[in-house]
Amino acid sequence: MAKVADEAKSGLDPLFDPEFFFDDEQRDLRRQLIEICERDIRPLADANDRTSTFPRKSLEALGPFLGLLLPKEWGGLGQSHTMFGSVVETIARYGDASCAMCYVMHIGAVEAIRLCATPFHIETYLKRVVPERLIGTLSYSDPETGSHFWYPIASGATRVDGGFKVTKKASWATSGGFADFYVFQTTSPDFKAYSDLTVWVCDAKDAEAKPGEWDALGLRGNQSGSLLIDDKFMSSDQLVGRVGDGAWSNDEGVDPFFLIGSSGCWSGIALGAIDIAIRHTTRKTHKDVGLRVCDYPTIQDAVGEAIIDTNMVRAMHYSVAKAMDNVTDNGQRTLELGEYARGDYLPWLWQLKFAAAKNVAHVVDKMLHCTGGSGFKREPLQIERYLRDGKAGWVMGPTNEVLRQFVGKTALLGMDSLDYWNQVVNWRAITNETKKLTAEEKREFAARLLAEAEE
Ligand SMILES: Cc1cc2nc3c(=O)[nH]c(=O)nc-3n(C[C@H](O)[C@H](O)[C@H](O)COP(=O)(O)OP(=O)(O)OC[C@H]3O[C@@H](n4cnc5c(N)ncnc54)[C@H](O)[C@@H]3O)c2cc1C
Repeated sequence: MAKVADEAKSGLDPLFDPEFFFDDEQRDLRRQLIEICERDIRPLADANDRTSTFPRKSLEALGPFLGLLLPKEWGGLGQSHTMFGSVVETIARYGDASCAMCYVMHIGAVEAIRLCATPFHIETYLKRVVPERLIGTLSYSDPETGSHFWYPIASGATRVDGGFKVTKKASWATSGGFADFYVFQTTSPDFKAYSDLTVWVCDAKDAEAKPGEWDALGLRGNQSGSLLIDDKFMSSDQLVGRVGDGAWSNDEGVDPFFLIGSSGCWSGIALGAIDIAIRHTTRKTHKDVGLRVCDYPTIQDAVGEAIIDTNMVRAMHYSVAKAMDNVTDNGQRTLELGEYARGDYLPWLWQLKFAAAKNVAHVVDKMLHCTGGSGFKREPLQIERYLRDGKAGWVMGPTNEVLRQFVGKTALLGMDSLDYWNQVVNWRAITNETKKLTAEEKREFAARLLAEAEE
């Protein structure tokens, strides 16, 4: 245990940590969190990875951090978006990236509820999170729409006496089968178009998960298996916000918290890999030439570039988080239903997640190169786990392919062109294609359209 703690303390010099973004209370919280990571979380990371064990003990060890933005009178820490990014980064760097990702989804679920919490939500979930160590998660991705997780085609709800019957088919859910409550999205009862979405919360007893099916390259403890909520009765208390509020909830709650949190996870993994490379290369000597590995300029270049790139992402991360803090009284203001505050920064959050996920994939490769064959082995360095965990960044929705296209398309064609729910007609494409039709083909096509219109 002592060895693990010493290892965690060494690594990149703290002068490279952007402490200037934080006040004294936050710096103190970060110090406490590093201790929790060293004492309770990091020692379990390797075994959780080898056996795909859900990091329940590690999450519980986080104590008040489970209610990071919740009011202090509920056991929370009354903290901010900036601190959320830093907490996730710290857990991924000094503790365990799987635990960090489960924590991101937990805070995402807690904050999605808090965005429009009723007295029922407050008593049943929010006030119990810290004292009872309740773990929540987000279940959005749909088996039929892949990484377009905002488009829940396979899920739906109908009105019944006294409430609703709700079905959620989720292709992935971090903490699936282990969480105490699930925040999830379906199409609305009576929905007319896919932008008409509704958010719900249910307890573990209503969700069927298949924990054993999670066997992945990295983040092996985070248990992101499929989930089914099969035609379950939900009372109106279980609505999170109003029927039809889902798109706003995505923009104002789930997306900002997921993007700011997961970006912290990717930067934390990058920093953890840099720490390991620094420790290893400063200790290992080549006796023939009398040099340590860190004495080679190639290693110095690689480490220097990794620090610069990672700190560029962190500076962006904390700046965007501060912008969200500024419009929400440091994450404490209760917004009006439908009000935009964090949502106004989505284009910045897309850029941030892209940059953080791109950076970690590159940095873990380069830091592995610096540690040579020693890093390629599981033990003793464990850098290969950071490499595997970091690779999740690019493929987690919104994937980096989708994000760079969002940014480019918005810049070139405007926000409406994103067409999340496949509703905006591309008249240019239709005109271009129909002009290729013969007169007879046009008549056939027109007849088909008229028949569809009649239906
Ligand atoms: C570790 C992990 C944890 C997860 N946890 C959760 C969770 O807790 N909750 C949850 O709801 N989901 C979760 N997910 C799911 C995640 O958000 C994505 O839905 C999932 O990774 C998509 O995988 P897929 O195979 O369906 O990809 P696909 O959508 O089939 O994508 C395949 C390829 O096509 C590309 N692509 C897709 N759409 C476009 C487009 N429009 N333009 C250009 N390229 C495109 C993708 O970028 C990718 O390269 C998790 C995923 C992982 C890996």
